[in-house]
Amino acid sequence: MKEKLIFDFSASGRKGYSLSGRDLPMQPAEKLLPAKFLRRQPAALPEVPESEVVRHFIRLSNLNYHVDKNMYPLGSCTMKYNPKINDYTCDLPGFSALHPLQPEETAGGALQLMHELSSMLAEIAGMAAVTLQPAAGAHGELTGILLIKKYHESKGSKRSTLLVVDSAHGTNPASAAIAGYRTVSVKSNAIGRTDLDDLRSKLDGDVAALMLTNPNTIGLFEKEIVEISRMVHENGSLLYMDGANMNALLGIARPGDMGFDVVHYNLHKTFSAPHGGGGPGSGPVGVSEALVPFLPVPVVEKTEGPDGPRYRLVSDRPGSIGRMMNFYGNFSVLVRAYTYIRMLGPDGLRRVSENAIINANYLLSRLTSSYDLPFPKQVLHEFCLSGDRQKKSHGVKTLDIAKRLLDYGFHAPTIYFPLIVSEALMIEPTETESRETLDLFADAMLKIAEEAEQSPETVTGAPVNTPVTRLDEAMASRQLNICCM
Ligand SMILES: *Cc1c(COP(=O)(O)O)cnc(C)c1O
Repeated sequence: MKEKLIFDFSASGRKGYSLSGRDLPMQPAEKLLPAKFLRRQPAALPEVPESEVVRHFIRLSNLNYHVDKNMYPLGSCTMKYNPKINDYTCDLPGFSALHPLQPEETAGGALQLMHELSSMLAEIAGMAAVTLQPAAGAHGELTGILLIKKYHESKGSKRSTLLVVDSAHGTNPASAAIAGYRTVSVKSNAIGRTDLDDLRSKLDGDVAALMLTNPNTIGLFEKEIVEISRMVHENGSLLYMDGANMNALLGIARPGDMGFDVVHYNLHKTFSAPHGGGGPGSGPVGVSEALVPFLPVPVVEKTEGPDGPRYRLVSDRPGSIGRMMNFYGNFSVLVRAYTYIRMLGPDGLRRVSENAIINANYLLSRLTSSYDLPFPKQVLHEFCLSGDRQKKSHGVKTLDIAKRLLDYGFHAPTIYFPLIVSEALMIEPTETESRETLDLFADAMLKIAEEAEQSPETVTGAPVNTPVTRLDEAMASRQLNICCM
């Protein structure tokens, strides 16, 4: 089904509003604006009644795919259902009508929310303090790496290398490079975990930190994390955790207890704020005690006053790396994450992770008969299949499988990531899907595996049921790497 442009519904004189006269004299535009800013001709805006506008956009939203419509199994990127109460609190006038420049004495509630959210995130990850400034996961990485840099500088040490494991998200080496570091890749071993021998051989006096994702992007817990932490710290280096996706850890294990010095969170993944289409996100960074003096300013401080606690913004911190973001980060995302955490409470958060892990393992057990699993079958919140079998026997690539899923009404999983798995299909169901939905998804995947054997052209020609069907895939042959945000 195609949808016409809003302009095609336009007819002169149709209006979406009626105003019954005005009681203020209007100034002509020429009096209000310099001549160079005036339009030469009136803007050609569509004239459409409200009912048509609403229907047009509802139809468009139906053509789109979103997490309110069905499961969105993006591995690593955690697209979970977003409770509507998060939007409700975010819209409370005390939050939504705040002006970023209004005096801080009049924004006590917002500061209190930021202070409490920082404390809750610190508690969840076992860190000493958290900054809420970064606007996304990658921005959190950059912030964390700048904190590491400042730490080494404060010790008078110059280190210019960051180690990144080869299964890492692409933003890790990119953030390291932006912060001025040379990156060296550490290998994963045959069972998908960090290769300790390779790590040992690369740890020298120039290494500022190791960046690690745990559970890693294949969904496996780095069981040797305590040993890794010991090796890294003995070398005078720090340990950075990419905590973009903490869906397996909430209430169960804390990066701080594993020995991580810095961790970034993606509020727009683990803590449910909507994402996709470019944001807005939020990538807070938690640090251990030694790094607290370097946190970005301003920080929210709590003091006890005669009539209860007071919150204020403090910028006078000489050790700070400075500001990472205008104003105070993406505040609306903070309100959503705060609501999410408070609604669930500690036990609820733990159940989130337990259910995310059960869902992933259930789905995996339904799919292993038809798809290759390159690594052990003991996953946490996500898993990575390989489409090698389908490609080798029937010429059906992972890209084709992903596109065929659209015909069955599902968003595709993350594909061709991590780079260490060939024809990777990386699936994360999240805790918010019911058993019935997981079964429907598994049925679709199994059906596609069957089609790949019996009528491969059905899969390689997909999708056929979507508003936009198969595109020219010439680009795909140049090894297209598709990932998520
Ligand atoms: C999503 C993700 C990132 C980057 O987060 P953005 O908010 O997209 O910048 C980094 N690491 C991992 C493991 C991720 O899943």
